[in-house]
Amino acid sequence: MTNLEYLPRLNRESILTRIAAAQTLSQIPTSSPAALLAVSKGHSINAIRHLAEQGQQAFGESYLQEALPKIAALSSYHLEWHFIGAMQANKTRQIARHFAWVQSLQNLKIAKRLNDQRPLEYPPLNVCIQVNIANDPAKSGLSEDAVLAFATQVALMPRLQLRGLMTIINLDATEAERKQYYQKMQTLFLQLREQVGFAIDTLSMGMSQDFEAAITGGSTMVRLGTVLFGERH
Ligand SMILES: *Cc1c(COP(=O)(O)O)cnc(C)c1O
Repeated sequence: MTNLEYLPRLNRESILTRIAAAQTLSQIPTSSPAALLAVSKGHSINAIRHLAEQGQQAFGESYLQEALPKIAALSSYHLEWHFIGAMQANKTRQIARHFAWVQSLQNLKIAKRLNDQRPLEYPPLNVCIQVNIANDPAKSGLSEDAVLAFATQVALMPRLQLRGLMTIINLDATEAERKQYYQKMQTLFLQLREQVGFAIDTLSMGMSQDFEAAITGGSTMVRLGTVLFGERH
């Protein structure tokens, strides 16, 4: 089967149950349940509030201008915001101030700016390196070979806390190809942990269409938009 099916919207509890079930099937030993990042781009403040009231804490946004009013409006919920989109140098100051995580790190200049601009009164900014595991020229992320050298540089930056890797798996790939990508990511993740240490605890892969397969393939964090919120506006 190559085509992924459209997934209907599911409630948060049933998604958590499915994540736990997929983890049970995995051959990869894990000490804690995989994390759920609710990707709220294209969804309203009210939709986010509704999920926050069910206990969801971590939310992902791809566009700074869209995220800022949401972050401000929901500040009383003390949510954990993850930036997961493309970054331009002129946006780093606000990203370093308003987000707890950046999952789309792939460039040294941007890393240096985030490190310099993270406010001193906050804990270090958690970061994941984005990997282009399929070497797809149309996709962003570092190539597999470039990750460990880049990680060495990032690990030296005191205001960044390197947590792991993020990838966007190409959903046009066949099931067999996707399995290979999960496996390659898992290998790279273990190499990174060996190199940097046990602070490396996050392998962020899997979206609405493939989250269960990604968890079984070793993901520690899935990023779900459509299955949680419905279609984006
Ligand atoms: C939009 C987005 C998602 C969520 O995609 P869905 O298919 O709606 O679950 C996950 N990760 C990234 C990086 C995204 O941009």
